[in-house]
Amino acid sequence: MHTTNEIRRSFLDYFASNGHEAVQSAPLVPYNDPTLMFVNAGMVPFKNVFTGLETRAVPRATSSQKCVRAGGKHNDLDNVGYTARHHTFFEMLGNFSFGDYFKEQAITHAWTLLTEEWGLPAEKLLVTVYHTDDEAFDLWKKIAGLPESKIIRIATKDNFWAMGDEGPCGPCSEIFFDHGDHIWGGPPGSPEEDGDRFIEIWNLVFMQFEQAAGEIVGNLPKPSIDTGMGLERISAVMQGVHDNYDIDTFKALISASESLTGVAAQGENRASHRVIADHLRSTSFLLADGVLPSNEGRGYVLRRIMRRAMRHAHLLGAKDPLMHRLVPALVAEMGQAYPELGRAQPLIEETLEREEVQFRRTLSNGLRLLDEATADMNEGGELPGETAFKLYDTYGFPYDLTEDALRSRGIGVDKAGFDAAMAQQKAAARAAWKGSGQAADSEVWFDIAEREGASEFTGYTSTTGEGQV
Ligand code: ATP
Ligand code: MG
Ligand code: MG
Ligand code: MG
Repeated sequence: MHTTNEIRRSFLDYFASNGHEAVQSAPLVPYNDPTLMFVNAGMVPFKNVFTGLETRAVPRATSSQKCVRAGGKHNDLDNVGYTARHHTFFEMLGNFSFGDYFKEQAITHAWTLLTEEWGLPAEKLLVTVYHTDDEAFDLWKKIAGLPESKIIRIATKDNFWAMGDEGPCGPCSEIFFDHGDHIWGGPPGSPEEDGDRFIEIWNLVFMQFEQAAGEIVGNLPKPSIDTGMGLERISAVMQGVHDNYDIDTFKALISASESLTGVAAQGENRASHRVIADHLRSTSFLLADGVLPSNEGRGYVLRRIMRRAMRHAHLLGAKDPLMHRLVPALVAEMGQAYPELGRAQPLIEETLEREEVQFRRTLSNGLRLLDEATADMNEGGELPGETAFKLYDTYGFPYDLTEDALRSRGIGVDKAGFDAAMAQQKAAARAAWKGSGQAADSEVWFDIAEREGASEFTGYTSTTGEGQV
């Protein structure tokens, strides 16, 4: 059996022995892209290399990059605990060619690693290509010997990658593993593709075109390769389990939370343990990379994730703060690959404990209010936006936490009403400042706060502070 730590090593070794420079994971807070909340893909630290702004001595690299997808364009927060394959924090294994090799070699490497080095059965693999990418279609046939029925042409944006409106872009080819017909789901492009039977393990991006103002304007002089494979997903495949949450790393974390709460990860409690294990990873890694909980921006995303986990700890009946007591199990699993985790352990534990002590002061009262407000509701009901806002403002419930809390009962939340209540509070705060004779530049401060509040990465900002918690 291959441990997750061994699989990471094996991936990096394979590409290093094929001329790639092994590069350490960059921190989760992007240093080269102010528009991005967190690094969410392996290529992010190399953006300037792909656009030609920077050059590297070696034109090939490989990495296992820490990624967080809990906000912005890629937001997998709501999937966590409910799908077999999504995390808020995960590691993306990647190999990169900066104007060096292209499609043929990228496909050869991927196929060789999966089927020869790692010995995965070829008949369980299938791939997608962008519908116009005949070159990739033919290469898969030639290199992998895949039958045409297992090279699926996809016409959607899922198989076309672009950095934004400017710069490199190109078709992708995704590799899927078939976990078997005992699991519901259909192949990519089919009506049942949302199921978890066919799981995307690796995405190969062929950067070959140049974009300007959202239009393809020509071919790149030197095409490049960017790939990303979810470490947890390939671990599941290699460890013979279907579900990411059944791999070694997650088993260790979930068993730590089972023994500290005394509650088995079964039935209705299963999702809670999964959310806790997942959020433990994202919050700890964010703290290790210098993000601190706050009421806006990155810090608020961190706080939202923490509080969500803390509600699930409460659901499991934890009488005392739980999250900080799980950190040693995480450091034991991942501290060797990521020494920053061990270095930051005291900070992580103190911060998690302080946050949980603080949040628990208002958590039960908030949950009581939520119960009262929904007592008469059935599936399909909707919590008024005003109530969701009160939970946010007075009890410190992030909006998505309220949504998550009602999800199992099939009750929704009036988002427009919530936004309206938030806007009203902001307007009132602004008016109060105006009449207070404060420095003239406070107006500027409000403008900034609002502009930031409107941008995708800031989360819900509240100029008056988020509840007195
Ligand atoms: P999916 O369609 O399953 O959401 P994706 O197409 O959004 O995945 P990519 O952006 O192509 O994912 O990222 C490259 C690889 O990273 C994926 O093939 C997958 O193995 C992994 N990955 C992506 N999102 C997650 C996640 N939230 N948790 C774990 N692994 C992920
Ligand atoms: Mg996705
Ligand atoms: Mg996909
Ligand atoms: Mg993909």
